Amino acid sequence: MYLNADQFNKRKNEGLDTAKMEVTFLGTCSGGGPTESRNCSSLVLDMLSDYDLWMVDCAEGTVRQFAQQPHVHGQRPLKISRVTKVFITHMHADHVMGLITLLRNLLYNTKVVAYPGEVRTELRLPRQERVVIFGPAGLRAFVRQNLKLTLTRAVDRYVVHELLTAGDPITPCEPIPEGSTTFHPTELNIMHCCELPGLDIRAGPDGLWRAVTEGHGRMSKILVDAGPILHRDPCIGYVFQEAWYPSRKLVILGDTYDPEPMIPLCINPSPSLLIHEATDSHISATADTEVKLSKRSAETVLQAALSKGHSVPEMAGAFAKKINASGLVLNHIGARFPAPRNPSDDHRKRIMRDILKKANLAWSHKKNYAVAAFDFCRVNVPIDPEIKEHPRRHEISTTGAKEKEKEKEAARRPPPPEIIGNANFSRSYQYYEDRGVERISVNAVASTSQAVHTPAGGGSEFIEWDLSGHNSKKRRGR
Ligand SMILES: [Zn+2]
Ligand SMILES: [Zn+2]
Repeated sequence: MYLNADQFNKRKNEGLDTAKMEVTFLGTCSGGGPTESRNCSSLVLDMLSDYDLWMVDCAEGTVRQFAQQPHVHGQRPLKISRVTKVFITHMHADHVMGLITLLRNLLYNTKVVAYPGEVRTELRLPRQERVVIFGPAGLRAFVRQNLKLTLTRAVDRYVVHELLTAGDPITPCEPIPEGSTTFHPTELNIMHCCELPGLDIRAGPDGLWRAVTEGHGRMSKILVDAGPILHRDPCIGYVFQEAWYPSRKLVILGDTYDPEPMIPLCINPSPSLLIHEATDSHISATADTEVKLSKRSAETVLQAALSKGHSVPEMAGAFAKKINASGLVLNHIGARFPAPRNPSDDHRKRIMRDILKKANLAWSHKKNYAVAAFDFCRVNVPIDPEIKEHPRRHEISTTGAKEKEKEKEAARRPPPPEIIGNANFSRSYQYYEDRGVERISVNAVASTSQAVHTPAGGGSEFIEWDLSGHNSKKRRGR
């Protein structure tokens, strides 16, 4: 059962997080990483009614990133055991190398003893898969062969559904021959003993994969579409969309220098949040007091990024503008741009602000500013106060005059900030380009500051530091 707007508001007033559609970045570095401040790509989607989790990409070290989450009062840590679906954007090592350890973690059950040398465990295995993996051609073989070669025996099942373009070859799913007790590591077509036969999902005539899968969101059914994006190798972007109220839409792109082919999935309605890569960036001399990063000209940086199939912040901003995204997060940030680790990391912060400035100029959104992802940052997909019409949306019962008046009043409120939660070392910051003010929520006030970051959360508390002058001013507000 999903909630309608009234029920949702009632539950929200009771303090229940019935609405959250939240993205947590476990790794935000490009393939040049991992670095001291960033792991490579993986992010977690927390938006299902049963609190199961979905993931997009799974770089090496992802399992450890789950364990490394900072503890914040009032915030539920993400549990790896709750992951049920993984969406892989492309086969580059910085996006898939954590899959095997993730699966080892998910498919194991310590109650069952191992049977040395024995592979055919299907009689003891459940018929349903424990985890479903979606991704491009080659993913099935990658997972299958790695599990075979690492002699992995587990007590749960997995399945890989491949999203194939017209020319992609199929990886067959043949069962282990009757009576056989080995892994058959040299035979690509024979499944791993824990594998179930996956689907070969061909793209439609427009090159897109529509309604790949769905799930029960907190307020609506969530539909997943996928589309090809241009990178130096085949790559996929995913769209997570609520089928009806509040019709939020989250677009997560893999590595790309041009996501044009999936534009039909990104418009009508336009996304509530776009996560776009920004692997490289020119740095202005004024921001680079250490005179290192600003040595490369804007043209040199652009050519270098394009030659590797990547984007600069201006391209992310321009795409956000093109599809009229309401929110923008820059992700897959080059190893040369480490994340600020504390408020005194002035140089790192100046560099990140310079990168965001470039994205913001190209995006030129009237109300919102781009955010640069950092490891463990949480971003909430906000509910648009003026709910947009949606081709898949089923109207809900808010027909009374009173309800309409309430909706109008909600629309008059300023839009909520998009960023949620805690950064490394339990703090998050938000930078306003025009005001030069940072809003930092720290551990001690996390329970109340969460309310600030909850969509349309009225009467919430926050602590704000004005870092524009020499004497930083602290302000507590409501
Ligand atoms: Zn990458
Ligand atoms: Zn790549």
